[in-house]
Amino acid sequence: AQHFLRRIAERADLGAFLCTDEEVALRQARAADARRARGERGPLLGVPLAHKDIFVTRDFPSTAASKMLAGYMSPFDAAVVERLSAAGAVTLGKLNCDEFAMGGSNEHSAFGPARNPWDVTRITGGSSGGSAAAVAARLLPAATGTDTGGSVRQPAALTGVTGIKPTYGRCSRYGMIAFASSLDQAGPIARTAEDCALLLQAMAGFDERDSTSADRPVDDYVAALATPREGATASQPLAGLRIGLPKEFFGEGVAPGVLQAVRAALAEFEKLGATLVEVSLPRTQLSIPVYYIIAPAEASSNLSRFDGVRYGHRAKDYKDLLDMYKKSRSEGFGAEVKRRIMIGTYVLSHGYYDAYYLQAQKLRRMIAEDFQAAFRQCDVIAGPVSPTVARPLDAQTDPVQEYLADIFTLPASLAGLPGMSVPAGSGEHGLPVGLQLIGNYWREAELLHVAHAFQ
Ligand code: GLN
Repeated sequence: AQHFLRRIAERADLGAFLCTDEEVALRQARAADARRARGERGPLLGVPLAHKDIFVTRDFPSTAASKMLAGYMSPFDAAVVERLSAAGAVTLGKLNCDEFAMGGSNEHSAFGPARNPWDVTRITGGSSGGSAAAVAARLLPAATGTDTGGSVRQPAALTGVTGIKPTYGRCSRYGMIAFASSLDQAGPIARTAEDCALLLQAMAGFDERDSTSADRPVDDYVAALATPREGATASQPLAGLRIGLPKEFFGEGVAPGVLQAVRAALAEFEKLGATLVEVSLPRTQLSIPVYYIIAPAEASSNLSRFDGVRYGHRAKDYKDLLDMYKKSRSEGFGAEVKRRIMIGTYVLSHGYYDAYYLQAQKLRRMIAEDFQAAFRQCDVIAGPVSPTVARPLDAQTDPVQEYLADIFTLPASLAGLPGMSVPAGSGEHGLPVGLQLIGNYWREAELLHVAHAFQ
């Protein structure tokens, strides 16, 4: 813990952390030592971690990288935090992210951006940018993230680390500050699929405090890493695996360097025995308007709780109650959050609901059905995570451009499918590229096995 706290202090320039607390960390580390002394064993016992500041924690402020919640102390730990702590993990602090997890660059944090360790003038991706930067710069062995439309996979890809978003419902959302509840999922970010398996093993599981938590047993992800697939041989561990390549993921708009890295990775999978088949996800393009209706709609509702009364920021001078709400929210929320609240309020309003929200819900179902059609032809789906490598910080202010970069992560999110980002070499400017693997529902073990064989 001390080693990593030193590393974190040395690389404060990365903006990966929103807070650390040596006293808390060392107390937890001593508790882990005591458990070990009593003969307890476990892969996470004593392992230093940190949590995206979307998870509430009793021992550290929980801000969602928003001025609205600056300094807020939660009376309880999020379920995922609780589970990792129970497994013996030592929490060093909280990690930077886009405000309320809204964004794909970490530039939308009220406390400044996180910076990409490969080139500090570039974005880490987002919204779990602090988690990805911290792991990539070896400030931590692993971290938690959350993924609503790509926020575990995309920053993992842009910083050259591994991340997995499990099936919707696999990890409890209890204590995750809500963005879009029908999409939000927790997931680990670590160096390798093996480390992700160790974390996810502890994070996953039924929780009656989350109404959409899945009441089904958790697979043994760690054992699955080393369990040979049917038909596997020593030199061809992935023999018989059919990898579906959606033609919509390999078209225009993907940077040549990204495409080249992804194709090179796929050639490696072929050497491991996998076969590549072309599949189609015909509504890939539509996932952008669909997501950017549904996610803001849910966000506008979820964020109505921040009114200056119960939580967080309250304006100093106000005339009456309405004025207090208005000023507190105007002062507390950043531009991107306000944009989403306005979009969400609009698409849910009387007269527009059918045209936008209902239509988006119908398309969401069709996008999920397209995946099931594709999975009749393949076992896993592969493609790029992001159409480009990490762009320079502040290079663009047009929000729609940022939304468009989510094109390859949104489909799996809308369908609720597990998705993973695996480092696949480098593209433009020698910057990291991520290969995305998407599995069918509850096939996290298969994704981790396939990624592990490749790594
Ligand atoms: N980039 C997407 C958005 O801005 C996804 C964010 C996320 O997964 N939390 O909404």
